[in-house]
Amino acid sequence: MQEILSHTFDEYAAIVRSFHGSAAPGVIIGGFMIDLAYRRLPSEGLFDVICETAKCLPDAVQILTPCSIGNRWLRIVDAGRYALTVYNKKTGAGVRVYVDCAKLDPWPDIKNWFMKLAPKEAQDDELLLDQIRKAGADICSVEEVQVSLNFFKKKKSGPIAVCPSCREAYNAADGAVCPACKGGLLPYPSGNRDRTAHPASCPSSECP
Ligand code: ZN
Repeated sequence: MQEILSHTFDEYAAIVRSFHGSAAPGVIIGGFMIDLAYRRLPSEGLFDVICETAKCLPDAVQILTPCSIGNRWLRIVDAGRYALTVYNKKTGAGVRVYVDCAKLDPWPDIKNWFMKLAPKEAQDDELLLDQIRKAGADICSVEEVQVSLNFFKKKKSGPIAVCPSCREAYNAADGAVCPACKGGLLPYPSGNRDRTAHPASCPSSECP
């Protein structure tokens, strides 16, 4: 019986459905990857995680570990590889788990999906999930890594300024106007709205 940390496969699949929106194959495999990493790590210590892809895998980390994007214990370095590293945040000693292409041959449905060898319409989702359940961490390999602890430099929190363009607070160190108002950062206009002008019918000063 394949287990994922303290969850049965079906329990974990249900959590993935609720968190991720569907029982996406990548998030399910990610559960086995984290389980494998934790089995190789000492039980004591505080661990951070690096995901080498932004797709699916970060959600497995956020479901199963205390590491999230928001608390920054999970970092994404998008190398486009299906791999994650769990490491001791004091020493940098860690383990890297990756989907090993050389181990996919016994699992044709996983291989077709992972390597995008067959069109999505031809994919049998149930068969794929069943193979993932049976394969567990057998499609993964592990290696020890030493993580460079200065790699993710902490941004010092400095003084806050109010941007003269959008009138929102931002880090003063970023310049005379906020990075959004400098342009090119957001897929929508940033500032220069006249926030003092509200339609007469609007009762709230927070009127959009
Ligand atoms: Zn601004």
